[in-house]
Amino acid sequence: MKSLEKLGEFGFINEVRKWTRSGQKGLIGIGDDSAVLPAGGNNLICFTTDTVVENVHFTSQTPARKVGWKAMAVNISDIAAMGGEPKYAVMSLTIPKRITFSYLKELYRGILGCGRRFNVALVGGDTVKGREFSVTLSLIGFVKKRELMLRSGARVEDDIFVTGSLGGSILGKHLTFIPRIPESRFLASRFRPSAMIDVSDGLIQDLEHILEESHAGAEIWLDKIPVSTEARRKSKGLREAALASACRDGEDFELLFTISPRLSKKLEKTWAAQFRTRLTKIGKVIKGRKKLKYADHDLFVKEPTWLRKKGFTHF
Ligand code: ADP
Ligand code: MG
Repeated sequence: MKSLEKLGEFGFINEVRKWTRSGQKGLIGIGDDSAVLPAGGNNLICFTTDTVVENVHFTSQTPARKVGWKAMAVNISDIAAMGGEPKYAVMSLTIPKRITFSYLKELYRGILGCGRRFNVALVGGDTVKGREFSVTLSLIGFVKKRELMLRSGARVEDDIFVTGSLGGSILGKHLTFIPRIPESRFLASRFRPSAMIDVSDGLIQDLEHILEESHAGAEIWLDKIPVSTEARRKSKGLREAALASACRDGEDFELLFTISPRLSKKLEKTWAAQFRTRLTKIGKVIKGRKKLKYADHDLFVKEPTWLRKKGFTHF
């Protein structure tokens, strides 16, 4: 019998993927940021769920409103990763005895505040008693067939881009981040990147998800990676530590995508006129399944030892 510990989070998900494969005809199921279902004509539904649990994703000290915002925002981010427009949510609450009404009221202010900003309506849910406080949201969103972006479309020679800056989100951004819906919709409708994911588990690990699904490798330019001020602060100014943080820390919820090099210049120009969100080219797609090549100031380096530790997994 396989052990959960040996399989790890992604090994386990792969097992589930095998168990469910036969039931998934005509739609995209496990393996992307959201499931994709037919919705008639050229329309598709994106369907996703994410849970936040006390002492894993937040603590008892975290303001309830921020917990609520995060619970909604992480789900919206998975719809953004597909190029979709989020629309409806249901939520399930597991509530231990010590949680108060006023805490829950604040939690809903966070959830509904984030929902309002992105036009997501909360339309149902479930309430149960339990030992750990957790909030699960499930969202559906819509996307046109030709605007859908999967993890699987990256092609050799494509450029690799990431939005925002990375690392150190534990210092606060993981609770207050703004899902990249307008950026994603802009990309989907105007530039149609070949592959996209939201960075939830760490830049390198999420890039590996794209590479795995696209059967390709990547060359990463370490000196180009947008290191956040939080990553720097967390690393007390040590360059390698800050870069490692940008490459590996989870919960940045930025968009990581690949796009044909023919479109890159125009994208960078139009982007700058449209958004204040940073956009950085960090590398190229190369041949070789999941092969990763690192470069620093144009000098190819072996995988730096400080990068070897993986991004976040749940077990
Ligand atoms: P993300 O970080 O984008 O939310 P995950 O790493 O949580 O994605 O999940 C990867 C894929 O595996 C998704 O397609 C998700 O729907 C699927 N998945 C994760 N956990 C389960 C599970 N317990 N049962 C079925 N599918 C799952
Ligand atoms: Mg995701």
